[in-house]
Amino acid sequence: MAMQAEAKPLIERYGLQNIEGFFGEVPTELYRGIIAGKELCIVTLGRQHGVDLVGCEAATLATTLAINMLHPDMIINAGTCGAFKANGSEIGDVYLSEGPVMFHDRRIGDDPLGIQSLGNYPTYDAHQMAADLRLKLGKCTTGSSLDCLDEDLAIIKREGGMLKDMEAGAVAFVASVYKTPLICVKSVTDLIDGGEKTIDEFRRNLSMASNALRDACTKIIQYLFVDQPTLF
Ligand code: SAH
Repeated sequence: MAMQAEAKPLIERYGLQNIEGFFGEVPTELYRGIIAGKELCIVTLGRQHGVDLVGCEAATLATTLAINMLHPDMIINAGTCGAFKANGSEIGDVYLSEGPVMFHDRRIGDDPLGIQSLGNYPTYDAHQMAADLRLKLGKCTTGSSLDCLDEDLAIIKREGGMLKDMEAGAVAFVASVYKTPLICVKSVTDLIDGGEKTIDEFRRNLSMASNALRDACTKIIQYLFVDQPTLF
């Protein structure tokens, strides 16, 4: 998870313990607990210069360290995102990732198939889980900015992107390198085509969307740890 505000409701839900200094001088933070006999670790990006880290660089660092030091059976990249009214999305909707995760702001001229630019890193097939838990499905698309340029929008539309965030692509890249299964869980804070300035809409809805994220993650953890323990 990226920001503390996104992770706090879930950390509190399970009473997870902060393991201070686990990642040494790296700002990445670890919260850990045993749920139904299995280990649940929440890794957040931590803080630098007095603010929460967000984005691909910190997400790459955190995911690389988490895989190497915690050896997870599965990674869940849980966080908030923007989505589109035109696709029927509403604030507080929670989605599971469908198909590969792509980047929408990497324009590399001699890359006609989009291999370097889009990335398109695989995710675990969450169709059955989404049906069982009544969660929506959508393609995650990642960039390094909260706003959305026309160039970004054109790529998102062309590739069928539904959920716009700033970390999923980086987490998916690292997960693909280490062949660790990944599901993204994204809660909508803002509607890109809704007319409001994204940062204002994001701030207003962050707490509500983070509570919705906690509720969806609680269902997912119950599903993976208790109801379908043989999946991983
Ligand atoms: N200054 C703000 C910055 C948050 S950046 C703050 O610290 O409060 C937004 C975060 O929410 C990122 O981690 C990103 O993954 C997610 N996010 C939510 N809506 C988004 C959108 N429309 N586009 C990109 N990322 C979004």
